[in-house]
Amino acid sequence: SKAPIAIIGTGIAGLSAARTLHDAGQAVHLFDKSRGSGGRMASKRSDAGSLDLGAQYFTARDRRFAETVRQWQAGGWVDQWTPTLFQSRDGQLSPSADEQLRWVGTPTMSAITRGLLGEMPVTFSCRITEVFRGEQYWTLVDATGASHGPFSHVIIALPAPQAAALLSGAPKLAAVAASVAMEPTWAVALGFATPLGTTLEGCFVQDDALDWIARNRSKPGRDGALDTWVLHATSSWSRQHLDLSKEAVIERLHGAFAELIDCVVPAPEFTLAHRWLYARPAQAHEWTALADAGLGLYACGDWCLSGRVEGAWLSGQEAARRLLENL
Ligand code: FAD
Ligand code: NAD
Repeated sequence: SKAPIAIIGTGIAGLSAARTLHDAGQAVHLFDKSRGSGGRMASKRSDAGSLDLGAQYFTARDRRFAETVRQWQAGGWVDQWTPTLFQSRDGQLSPSADEQLRWVGTPTMSAITRGLLGEMPVTFSCRITEVFRGEQYWTLVDATGASHGPFSHVIIALPAPQAAALLSGAPKLAAVAASVAMEPTWAVALGFATPLGTTLEGCFVQDDALDWIARNRSKPGRDGALDTWVLHATSSWSRQHLDLSKEAVIERLHGAFAELIDCVVPAPEFTLAHRWLYARPAQAHEWTALADAGLGLYACGDWCLSGRVEGAWLSGQEAARRLLENL
């Protein structure tokens, strides 16, 4: 039988590609260093229930993606989120309702990638450190030194800096990936025993430290005894405070939150901080996906397009399309 296609990364880009290849009758095998799928759109299990610390929601502007999201909705993987939106400018909070459709996975963000993964073969807790090609086939090496293969093709679906490290088989692709700067984001969750006295459920911020605030339980299907809020710092604040301790980051963002919001903020019952080192590309690109069809090596991810869930999905579609075209 034919060697399968290796896909490194089970974020939305890798799973977008994997699902299309699988549905076209190709054998695939996925790898991820984490214990589950989703990457930056995974939900984190915590003492305060499941929390969206990465992607908060997504929009669908591309027709094909919008159609796919409708299918996900029919399958019960996603639902609309209609938060009471505010914005904060120069310390001034004001309502900011709009007509934009916003989607979230239900009951957690991870429902989408878990649904896409289905029964496809996957190896979790496996960090790939090397990707090399023999005369005909590809072999992967993981952090324990174990090798995996042979594979007919490889799709690398990781943030650009991590992709660059695995693309040495195709130096031109490696150089493109290495040229992409990705910005960090500090994320903090605060859980309150008594619900905060505000109608605010989501807030776009353009002040110093904070970029975004969301009330987790306003999303469809979320449970949890606490009123838990997710705060995201701006790229520049996150970069400037990259090595601050989690405790200090929680304290600073809690302070900024208390100053911004229009109600009393007591001491939280629950706190959590997470540092996303490669949260988003510093700018959008129009590569869609990278390919060396002769070698059978492909790269996809949000950084090939808009740095959003939609861009990552579209990038995975393009990698799969180009691979199938070159079979
Ligand atoms: P990832 O999700 O990063 O997937 C890469 C996967 O590869 C991960 O699972 C990782 O564990 C794995 N991996 C990495 N290195 C290795 C290795 N060496 N070996 C094996 N596996 C490896 N987008 C929106 O549209 N709306 C939002 O509101 C939004 N908010 C965001 C907020 C934050 C804080 C962050 C961080 C991102 C946000 N995004 C948002 C962006 C969105 O999450 C990403 O664009 C999208 O999830 C990227 O998907 P991906 O598949 O390209 O990469
Ligand atoms: P979107 O259309 O809801 O938001 C895009 C941007 O438009 C917002 O960032 C905000 O500046 C502005 N905006 C939208 N609605 C607004 C309103 N009602 N009031 C005031 N301003 C409003 O969603 P999108 O285009 O799909 O973007 C995804 C979101 O994900 C963005 O907010 C982006 O900043 C965020 N994101 C964050 C990271 C991270 O690492 N923190 C990474 C990728 C994306």
